[in-house]
Amino acid sequence: MPARPLNRMSELRRDPILRRWVIMAPERGADTLARRGEPPADAGEARGPCPFCPGSESLNPDEIAVVRDGTGWAVRVTPDKKPLLHIEGDLGRRAAGMFDLMNAIGAHELVTDVPAHTLTWADFPLPQMTRLLELYRARTRDLRRDTRFRFVVVLKNHGATWSRYGHSHSHVVATPFPPKRLEEEVAGAREYYRMRERCVFCDQISEELRAGERVVARNADFLTFAPFASEHPYEMWIAPLEHAADFGTLADGAAASLAELLVDALARLRTALADPPYSVALHAGAVDGGAQAEFHWHWEIVPHLGHELGMEWATGIFSNPVPPEEAARRLRARR
Ligand SMILES: [Zn+2]
Ligand SMILES: [Zn+2]
Ligand SMILES: [Zn+2]
Repeated sequence: MPARPLNRMSELRRDPILRRWVIMAPERGADTLARRGEPPADAGEARGPCPFCPGSESLNPDEIAVVRDGTGWAVRVTPDKKPLLHIEGDLGRRAAGMFDLMNAIGAHELVTDVPAHTLTWADFPLPQMTRLLELYRARTRDLRRDTRFRFVVVLKNHGATWSRYGHSHSHVVATPFPPKRLEEEVAGAREYYRMRERCVFCDQISEELRAGERVVARNADFLTFAPFASEHPYEMWIAPLEHAADFGTLADGAAASLAELLVDALARLRTALADPPYSVALHAGAVDGGAQAEFHWHWEIVPHLGHELGMEWATGIFSNPVPPEEAARRLRARR
């Protein structure tokens, strides 16, 4: 295969006004754009066997990590076939005139969440969700040893029209820079800590427990709640009651406890909104070990209800037709 010409290489470019990095990924372009207007998941699958099902391992043979049970693999981590960020190479930070860029370095791992083709997170038996969470913890621990990386994010999309396969899978992404959203959260948490010497998330959790009306569920270790200023209808956060910035420190017993609330939250969402598409993300502190007192890891769950109207894009202003007190009431009502 001929070497890729330089202008086809992906790179990271920094917006000098918004101070955020954008991944230029020309090698992903044609394929992604060609999918526009295509029918979603099921029709796509008709084109070939599901690459995530047992028996298809040879389609993505390099295993980064795997959890086995009695009969085969239970969770499988492989490199993403079309990674947004590439694991090999140095950062190559450089200037181009007034602009800043670097190589599109990072980790982009594909997690096959479960062998069964049709099982969604809301259906997961607790041992399977526990295994999956333990695997995210293991990947966090492993990736933070790479000094190029600053943050590790877990991302899961369910039922999205842009996802080609119905088989449950997720992504672990490590970045050499703070992703914009996390940078905003970290900066806000840092400022709050500077003023009060307390974690803003710990304070918010105490407040939600006191108020009660936005609480969706809780157990001995975790709280599920609809945030006070939810940007999205039915947005939920799950956070540990005990302060922790690093998801890699999640205790063994706590993984099962977190699994319980995560499955619970998604089952509630499915009941309340007739199985909407949704995204789930893990936000954790910097993997370089900084700001441990200021940040507090949490999972965010956001259903995609087709309500975005361009306002958010145009202005950064969100409007939410379902106040979180109402959302929490409906989510609490039935699972
Ligand atoms: Zn499958
Ligand atoms: Zn905290
Ligand atoms: Zn967050």
